[in-house]
Amino acid sequence: MPSKRRNNGRNKKNKGHADTVRCTNCGRVVSKDKAIKRFQQRNMVDASSKRDIQENYAYNTADFQMPKIYVKLSYCVSCAIHARIVRVRSVEDRKKRYTTRLRHHVRPENRTGNASLPLSELGKA
Ligand SMILES: [Zn+2]
Repeated sequence: MPSKRRNNGRNKKNKGHADTVRCTNCGRVVSKDKAIKRFQQRNMVDASSKRDIQENYAYNTADFQMPKIYVKLSYCVSCAIHARIVRVRSVEDRKKRYTTRLRHHVRPENRTGNASLPLSELGKA
């Protein structure tokens, strides 16, 4: 039977069983290798509130960093499509490999660590 993707939308390789995670949005059980995962870092307060807080710091601003929220989000395929985190791609475009996990402080050509493209450059290639 023809397969839509050579990995069937998964990244399981030869391991047989993969752990499950719950979709952040709807709670659906989805295997960890299939889930669409994003790491979100965001400020606890919006920019205008942040400025107010910074102006009224009791601490020396040099040794105090505003805390951030760090969350690992994992979505089921339905929610990722619905929320436009990933999009439906044509047969040809499906073959293009991309990654959202970019390495910092390395030479630009080594940022992805393999043959895949950074997500931001996917449309250009
Ligand atoms: Zn979901």
